[in-house]
Amino acid sequence: MSVRENLLRVRGEIPEGVELVAVSKFHPAEMIEEAYEAGQRCFGESRVQELVEKVKALPSDIRWHFIGHLQTNKVKQLIGKVALIESVDSEKLLNLIDAESRKTGVVTRVLMQVHVAMEETKFGFYPEELLEYFREKKFESLTNTHICGVMGMASNTDDLDRVRGDFHKIATIYRSIANDPSLGLRGFDMLSMGMSGDWQIAVEEGANIVRIGSAIFGARQY
Ligand SMILES: *Cc1c(COP(=O)(O)O)cnc(C)c1O
Repeated sequence: MSVRENLLRVRGEIPEGVELVAVSKFHPAEMIEEAYEAGQRCFGESRVQELVEKVKALPSDIRWHFIGHLQTNKVKQLIGKVALIESVDSEKLLNLIDAESRKTGVVTRVLMQVHVAMEETKFGFYPEELLEYFREKKFESLTNTHICGVMGMASNTDDLDRVRGDFHKIATIYRSIANDPSLGLRGFDMLSMGMSGDWQIAVEEGANIVRIGSAIFGARQY
């Protein structure tokens, strides 16, 4: 199957109102072009250097989402180049994104990554930490960053009940923030969860952004 065929099939399966991020990390620009030709405009990358090079090489109307762990010393390179940083996993990183965005004179849109999976290696705020961040209204100190919602991943397991449980937890955290009028949040309406192997479950649990790589581009060569 070609990238085009995969993309059209996946897009045909995803319900309306759910945004597809085509995760193109580790794949060459030519494959992104193929998806672009088939109408895809939103792509996800997980490494800063790779993203910066692809931004230079590919059409300017692509909306890039950064979805990987972002090291603080690389924040500067991303600012102004991405439509959304989905993987904000610490307050320190968020404040740095804000400071760099202010210097550059742009507003950066971000999602807060929440950690519910059983793997210890996954990054993100623990649920209680994230809820506290909002409860204490720490976001009010941000001047050039717009927090648009929450991103999360399920445990890497064949146990689909566990996967559903993880997505349910993430969605519950998201909704408890989004539906709290006392926070006075505006434009907090994005819930990014689900990858090639589990996006259907994520959508059933309320995701409105899915991040799909291998089902479109095939296996990655690391
Ligand atoms: C790589 C990656 C994906 C895509 O994974 P696939 O299984 O290839 O669909 C989604 N989200 C994040 C955060 C990733 O790093």
